[in-house]
Amino acid sequence: MDIKTQNLFKKLLNDQLQALMKEASETKEGMSSDAEKENFPDSTDRASAESDRNFLLRIRERERFLIIKIREALERLEKGEFGICESCGGKISKERLKARPVTTLCIQCKTDAESQEKAEP
Ligand SMILES: [Zn+2]
Repeated sequence: MDIKTQNLFKKLLNDQLQALMKEASETKEGMSSDAEKENFPDSTDRASAESDRNFLLRIRERERFLIIKIREALERLEKGEFGICESCGGKISKERLKARPVTTLCIQCKTDAESQEKAEP
């Protein structure tokens, strides 16, 4: 994968990550309990005291899952492993990556995995 394509996916992933973090922080506002407010009465303190891990623990599972997936994809980009199927080692098509940049399986392996899932009772 050339640098230009890598940068394209990097931007795509970062945009998705930003959107998720924004969505997640809005979700979090509504979920803050009174106990948390007592610990951090000032909202600025609360924000700065909040570690990344705690933040991830509090947001919805779906978002957390996606954020982790996106971070993993960005790591793979850094390592030059992005776009390589983790099952067969083959290249994942650019079209598939554009539609779903966090994927780690090529379409063939994904299809195989899904048919195996369906085969299970
Ligand atoms: Zn594969």
